[in-house]
Amino acid sequence: MTVALQDFRTINSRRATNILVLDCPFCGEPPEVSAASGQGVSIACTAQECYVHPSVVGPTEKDAALLWNRRRR
Ligand SMILES: [Zn+2]
Repeated sequence: MTVALQDFRTINSRRATNILVLDCPFCGEPPEVSAASGQGVSIACTAQECYVHPSVVGPTEKDAALLWNRRRR
């Protein structure tokens, strides 16, 4: 999470209300937020050009977002 506050963006209204999710630290694309079957919520980079495709899973969307954002530090 390259730390500059400008990197934060609100995820779009289709996904949620007020949770901030950073762009992928590897390719710079916004990640996908989706329900993880039986495990809460997952946030993952699905960009075709991404060579890492990182993902995190949390019990709630907020938890997943916090995990996702933290992994960039
Ligand atoms: Zn990526």
